[in-house]
Amino acid sequence: MTRAGDKPAKFPLALDRVAPKAKRADVATLRPQRPLQEAAEDAMRRAAPTGLGLDSAGVRARMVARLRADGLHCEPVLAALASVPRHAFVDTALIAQAYEDTSLPIGLGQTISKPSVVGRMIELMLRGHDRLGRVLEIGTGCGYQAALLSQLATSVVSIERLKPLHDKARTLLQPLRRTNLRLVYGDGRIGHAPNAPYDAIIAAAGGDDIPTAWLEQLAVGGRLVAPMQSASGRGQVLMVVDRTESAWIRNVHEAVHFVPLKSGVA
Ligand code: SAH
Repeated sequence: MTRAGDKPAKFPLALDRVAPKAKRADVATLRPQRPLQEAAEDAMRRAAPTGLGLDSAGVRARMVARLRADGLHCEPVLAALASVPRHAFVDTALIAQAYEDTSLPIGLGQTISKPSVVGRMIELMLRGHDRLGRVLEIGTGCGYQAALLSQLATSVVSIERLKPLHDKARTLLQPLRRTNLRLVYGDGRIGHAPNAPYDAIIAAAGGDDIPTAWLEQLAVGGRLVAPMQSASGRGQVLMVVDRTESAWIRNVHEAVHFVPLKSGVA
């Protein structure tokens, strides 16, 4: 509407009154994808599965109660499982399943291990003690188990052969600021000699046998826990190897199902 006394607009669409162009700094940068780092830090803070109306500590406590009821009785392991935010290690679409006792895809055909299996393996490595010493993990994946281990160990070296997963784990673990955890990109079949010997070695991928390098890098008095093809050829079993002064003593435990241990890097 034109008030009396107003000069008629110079332009029919009053283009002379259009707000001046916003300065560059006023325009929010549109990012097609948030930096992974930022998203990971956010996920750590996020109350997980909000759709269920539960906070993440509460959901974890319930997962731990179920694992305890199912026979996991190692308190340090249960405490670690209760504190590490598993939902921060899985894709957003899978967050609602993060506290179910199930393995979930993490990309490149790999999986985050089942909490009960991770718990069982760490329990086997602890042998009734509260803490682990120097640990070598083969198969970092998304870094979930590395987070649990670094909470319980003096130091952890974790190796991954797939560069995108090694990088992803680095990003996802960064908010936890674990100064005793070292991520290595390489073929875990040769272990990691620079930090050997290790008091405990744990593998998250299974081959036909235990690589010699792992046996050599295991400290005397140390224990190795790894999936391995059973001698009968009927699937994988959990193999426990204890190193004494004079021998490596092998014991076969329960049947498991892990991704294959592969050679080389990619
Ligand atoms: N610990 C992981 C489980 C990852 S699945 C977790 O908490 O989620 C097993 C991982 O082992 C995969 O990421 C796979 O790429 C890796 N892997 C298989 N063979 C390997 C090798 N020779 N060296 C290092 N990592 C290997």
